[in-house]
Amino acid sequence: MMRQDFHRIDPKRRAVLDHKKKQFAAPSFKQQDYPHRLNFYDVPPTAEITLEEFEQWAIDRLKVLAEIEACSYRNKSPQETEAHIAPVLKKYLNLSSNSSASGGVVNQQLKNERQKDHYSHFILRLAFSATEELRHRFVRAETMLFKFRFQKDDSKERRAFIESLNLNWEPVSDEEKSELAEQLVTSTPGLRRADDESWFKVDWEKVPELIERRAVFIRKGKAYVPQREQLSMIVADFTARLEKAMELTSRALPRLDEDDRLTPILNHLSKNFGSAESVYSEGEGVVDGAPITAASIDPLSQHFPLCMRSLHMTLRKNNHLKHFGRLQYSLFLKGIGLSLDECILFWRQSFKGFSDDEFNSKYKYNIRHVYGDVGGDANRRGRGYPPYSCQKILSESAPSTGQTHGCPYRHFSVDNLTALLQSTGVHDKDLLRGVREDVEKQRYHIACNRVFEWTHKADIKRVKEDGSWNQADLDTIVHPNTYFKRSYLLKTSGKPSKETA
Ligand code: SF4
Repeated sequence: MMRQDFHRIDPKRRAVLDHKKKQFAAPSFKQQDYPHRLNFYDVPPTAEITLEEFEQWAIDRLKVLAEIEACSYRNKSPQETEAHIAPVLKKYLNLSSNSSASGGVVNQQLKNERQKDHYSHFILRLAFSATEELRHRFVRAETMLFKFRFQKDDSKERRAFIESLNLNWEPVSDEEKSELAEQLVTSTPGLRRADDESWFKVDWEKVPELIERRAVFIRKGKAYVPQREQLSMIVADFTARLEKAMELTSRALPRLDEDDRLTPILNHLSKNFGSAESVYSEGEGVVDGAPITAASIDPLSQHFPLCMRSLHMTLRKNNHLKHFGRLQYSLFLKGIGLSLDECILFWRQSFKGFSDDEFNSKYKYNIRHVYGDVGGDANRRGRGYPPYSCQKILSESAPSTGQTHGCPYRHFSVDNLTALLQSTGVHDKDLLRGVREDVEKQRYHIACNRVFEWTHKADIKRVKEDGSWNQADLDTIVHPNTYFKRSYLLKTSGKPSKETA
C-alpha cells in the first residue's frame, strides 16, 4: 500500500506515462531465479515492478544502509553493529537461506525477498551515483551490508555462491605447497605450518590490502592467499566491482533526467541518505492515551529534542517566537497529538503581551493553516502539513540573527550548543566531547542520537533487559517526533507501538 508521504509525487503524473521516454532501450524481460541468497549485483534487473514497489523497496533498503552508516559513525564494535543491524535487516530486507525453505528449494517467498534485495540495490545505485561523495558512501555501506550477510550465510550455500562467481582463483597443488612451504609460512603472519591451510593463487593486484599488510607471499605476479583471507578478497572484489559500476551509472544518469516518473523519486531518495525521513509516516508521533494539552506542554518539554526544547525555552523567555520558529514548533506539537483548539490555546497563553484582537489577527490564522483548517491545497485540507523531519530542518532555511528555528547541532556555534545542552542538564565531559566531534564532522543527527542515548541510558538498559523493546525499536532517530515519542514511552514504561510497527 502507498504511504501517505508518497503524495509528494503528483498522482496525475503517474498516469500519464510517455512510453517514448522509456529508458534503457528494449528492456527485454529476463526471469531471474536467484539460486543464491547472496548477490554480487552483476546483472541489472529487467522485469517490471510497480512504481510503488520501486519507491518502497528503495526506502526499505535506505533504512538499512542508514543504520549501517550510523553504527560506523558511532564507532560501534562489530558485535554491537551486528546486534543493531540484524533486527533492522530482518524487518526491512530479510534474506532467508535456501536451507530455511522446505526441502531446501528456492520457493516463491525466497524469490520475492531476493528480488526486492536485487531491485532495491539497483534503484539506490541510480539515486546515489550523481556525486562522488554519495557514491563513496553508498559503496561503503553496501560493502558492509554484503560483508555482514556473507559472514552470516550458511557455509555450504556460501561455498556454492563463491563457486558461481567464477573468480578465477587457482588452487595451489600439494606439491607446490610443499615446495614453497618455508616462504608461505614466513610470509603469512600467525601460520606455523603450510600444511595447516589450503591456498590459492590470484593476480597480485587483486589483493592490495594483503600486500599493504605484508601478509601474503608473491611469486611470478601471483599472490598465494590462504583460505582464511577469503572473506577480505571477496569483499574487496565486491567493492571494486561496485565502484566501477557506480562510475558507469553516473555517466548514464543524464539520460534519466527526462523520466518524469523516476527523477523525483530518485532525487528524494538521494537527499535522505543518513536520515531517511521517508521512514516516518504522518501521525506516527502520536502517543495513544498520553495527556497532550496546552497545559501539559511545559512538563512534556523534557522529552523534546534539542531543536524543540530550544524553541520552547525561547518562547517562555520572550513570550514570543518568530514566524519560522512558530511554524516548526506548531507542526511538531501537532505531530505529538496536540489538537487545533489546544494549540491555539497554547500559543494564546504563551504570547502574554498581546491583546486577543492582536493575537487573532496576527497569529491565529497561521496556526489554523498548519492544521489544514484554512487555506492550503485540496490534498492538505483537514490535515495540514506534516511535521518537519530532521533532514528538512537540517537542510532548509537556516535561521538568521534573532531567529530560533533550525537544529541547534547544526545552526548554533559550538559554545552556544554546549551552553544549551548544559542548561538542559547535560554536563558529562565525554558526551560533550563526542557531540563536538560529531558536529565537526557534520554528523548532526548522530550528535542528537548520542545525547538521546546518554539521557535515556538507564531506561534503554531496562527495556532491553526485560525484553519489552528490541533493537529495531531503538534504531537511529531521524525525526523530532520520533525523539519525543521514544523518550516519552521510555520514561513512562510504555511499549513501542506504531513508531516501529
Ligand atoms: Fe531536532 Fe533532528 Fe536536530 Fe535532533 S537532529 S535537534 S531531532 S532537528
